Amino acid sequence: MKRENQKNPESFRDSVATIDESGRRNWIYPTQPFGRFYNYRKYVSYLLLAILFVTPFIRVNGRPLFLFDILEGRFILFGKIFWPQDFFIFGLTMLTLIVLLVLFTVAFGRIFCGWICPQTIFMEMVFRRIEYWLEGSASKIRLRDQAPWNWEKIRIRVSKWVIFFGLSFIISNILLAYIIGTDKLYNIVTAPVSQHLTGFIAMMVFTGVFFFIYLWFREQICIVVCPYGRLQGVMLDRNSIVVAYDYERGEPRGKVSKKETENLGDCIDCHLCVKVCPTGIDIRNGTQMECVNCTACIDACDSIMDKVNRPRGLIRYASEENIAHKKPFRFSARLKAYSVALFALTAMLFFILLSRPDVETRVMRVSGQLYHIQEEEGTISNLFNLHLVNKTFSDIPIEIELLDREGRIEIIGDKDLTVKGESSTQATFFIYLPREQLDRRSTSLKIGIFSEGEQVGTTKTNFLSPVN
Ligand code: SF4
Ligand code: SF4
Repeated sequence: MKRENQKNPESFRDSVATIDESGRRNWIYPTQPFGRFYNYRKYVSYLLLAILFVTPFIRVNGRPLFLFDILEGRFILFGKIFWPQDFFIFGLTMLTLIVLLVLFTVAFGRIFCGWICPQTIFMEMVFRRIEYWLEGSASKIRLRDQAPWNWEKIRIRVSKWVIFFGLSFIISNILLAYIIGTDKLYNIVTAPVSQHLTGFIAMMVFTGVFFFIYLWFREQICIVVCPYGRLQGVMLDRNSIVVAYDYERGEPRGKVSKKETENLGDCIDCHLCVKVCPTGIDIRNGTQMECVNCTACIDACDSIMDKVNRPRGLIRYASEENIAHKKPFRFSARLKAYSVALFALTAMLFFILLSRPDVETRVMRVSGQLYHIQEEEGTISNLFNLHLVNKTFSDIPIEIELLDREGRIEIIGDKDLTVKGESSTQATFFIYLPREQLDRRSTSLKIGIFSEGEQVGTTKTNFLSPVN
């Protein structure tokens, strides 16, 4: 990669733009970008914010569409309830999402960071825009930061803090709505604090964390905290499409007045792409870990190219292969392998989701009990525990029957095995089998689970008997 204007072309990798040599924070004052990508990102962010804020209030048959109640171990996805017993489905879903993210990163770089990540959307499309609206341009914010405190500064800064805190409070409420549901959230908000002290503390902690992030920590989340950005180095290859500077076209860079005399490239070294960058990097140095693919530098450079009558796209979405050898996007072997893995995982996930029974049944022999012999009726009995989990919202009456043996089942105590919606129940029962059927110490049994005459599940267990 050509970088004639630097003594050591790779020296930028030795440091992070937001931290100075003494380890102190270098505050970034990005200029507000304008342009077609910024507009597209605004529309995408409006849509995603609307989805984020509306979803907790959507009900399916009176239940939330999504609920991630980690406190009670109860999860609702697309109106279907999931229990800790379904944890493997969550594991598989997470695995599928990770492969999806890796696949997208290999193909399209950090498109997720720039367009979908809530951190970028809230920071760049909500809080930063409010800051520009309240404080003015990036240079005004910088000057105000350096200026001594006066009434004007106090008025603007206090207004900003109040608005940021209010927004952080709203975001934390929405987050809580996903965890505890809107009904419980409404109770916490409307009832006296003393009645919901834990909920109130959780709300304030979340609010404080968001306020801290959007007022002060900002891009450090992407640079220092988020592991996804750090994995970029191992996921990207020369065919990945990222926000990239076309050094073949741009170099050697130089002022527009020198172009004719010094045979310069298209980059006029105006630094606008650096000034708009929210992570403070110079994309002309090449793909960097700090780049969140926000496209601000594309818009900035396009506006400059328009002014100097050169074609747009000096900074654009492109792969290294495309820039260096003008090669179009290629579906590489790695991409193909990831796609196959993703397809297999998604198919497995759908199969598990669709075949998941409404009632989960577990039958286990009561510990310490072997068998009883009923000499008069010529049967042998075993005692079992039955555990039923209802994964729907409605009550389900249950009957159990032997599927592959002659014999009978006798439930001990309450014969009604109705499992209430979203809950579980236990029962104990005997299985009696004719002695002549049993010719080995352990016989495998199939038990059918029925509800109102319809089979809703099957389970297996072992029946013990003396060897004849
Ligand atoms: S280099 Fe460009 S795309 Fe990357 S973070 Fe900076 S402005 Fe955004
Ligand atoms: S905005 Fe474009 S022309 Fe200006 S320095 Fe960046 S790459 Fe060069």
